[in-house]
Amino acid sequence: MIRDRARREKGETVEDMDTATRESLRASLLARQSEVQADLDRLDSELRQLGAEQEQNLGGLGNHLAEDGSNVMEQERILAVSGDLRDVMAQVTEALERLDTDEFGICRRCGKPINAERLEAFPFVRYDIECQSQIEREQALRAGR
Ligand SMILES: [Zn+2]
Repeated sequence: MIRDRARREKGETVEDMDTATRESLRASLLARQSEVQADLDRLDSELRQLGAEQEQNLGGLGNHLAEDGSNVMEQERILAVSGDLRDVMAQVTEALERLDTDEFGICRRCGKPINAERLEAFPFVRYDIECQSQIEREQALRAGR
């Protein structure tokens, strides 16, 4: 936090983001996007595979209860993972859309510039580190953890 302020005073804000930085962020966002898409496709076909297996099991005469149970668990796991991936995908897509606007690199909660290192590591983040941890705390509270 103190370092953030020092950076800002030195003028290292996103307004100074040069084209090279922007383009390298764009490249890593695009790479991330196709990575996530590949994962989603893979999970999707795993899910279809499970569905097909389940149909076969239901049609069979044998006792497939144990297999069905593990399939359901596997299905739930895949759905949870792909749900997370879809969130990431939405964030990445949004970041790509914002990349050419003044809003990129600005925290959507408090409007302060997001730390440059954080942005390089996670170009798709919506919030600065302070708001992010605040939001996570609120979510944890809501979830009753
Ligand atoms: Zn913030």
